[in-house]
Amino acid sequence: MMEHFGRRVLFVAILLAIMTGCTGDRISIIEDSDVRRIVRLDVESANVYVIEENERRLMIDAGNPGDEDRYEALMRQAGIDPAKIDYAILTHGHIDHAGTAASFQARHGIQVIGGADDQSIIAAGGEVDLCPTSMIARFLRMTLEGSRYPVFKLDRAIEMGGPGIDLAELGMSGRILPHSGHTPGSMVILIGRHAFVGDLIRGGTIANETPTTHFFMCDLEENQRRIGEILALDGIEQWHPGHFGPFPAKAVGVYLAKEIGD
Ligand SMILES: [Zn+2]
Repeated sequence: MMEHFGRRVLFVAILLAIMTGCTGDRISIIEDSDVRRIVRLDVESANVYVIEENERRLMIDAGNPGDEDRYEALMRQAGIDPAKIDYAILTHGHIDHAGTAASFQARHGIQVIGGADDQSIIAAGGEVDLCPTSMIARFLRMTLEGSRYPVFKLDRAIEMGGPGIDLAELGMSGRILPHSGHTPGSMVILIGRHAFVGDLIRGGTIANETPTTHFFMCDLEENQRRIGEILALDGIEQWHPGHFGPFPAKAVGVYLAKEIGD
């Protein structure tokens, strides 16, 4: 049994290493202006973004369960004290986006914000039906079976029908936009010229900055329509997905035209 388990873990590790280009944990600076600093922390190809503005700090998404120490190490390397982060906004409740939220909430008192309609996913530790969109995705789903993250409660649940939240309420600038589709309670976060889109789309596993259909998507047409809505917003130039990326809005337009044309 253990031997079988060990082989499975090794196989998954090799596959993930191939898919992620064998990269280690990484920091990328997205913006460093007079207004704000935005840093991307990449652990196992699950992006966590930290935005610093007006002495406030906000993280977007929380990666996989068990990776909290790796994210905290990257934060410290980037000059960010995890204890000084005020908020964590979850783009959605899947395991690779909400996995360390319980830990950040308990360790540092970070206020966790997410979509009201993802609360049942969060209560289940992220264990939900996934709809694979490719062969690799079907395999990934097998490896995820039975995986759960430590359950937590949202400190603030955003209603899906409403206009969302102006980040001025949190002392920062930007907007949290309810954007159901990938999950019922998915959110897109708009800050300056940037859109943080969770799993609305992803970067390629090899061509990381090429927009690609996400591994798990239950309604592809609905997903295309939702991508079109974000593309139609004024002033958004750069897209930051949960996995790989980033890419310019223009590249997403090219991707969408090709997908709809197929
Ligand atoms: Zn997801």
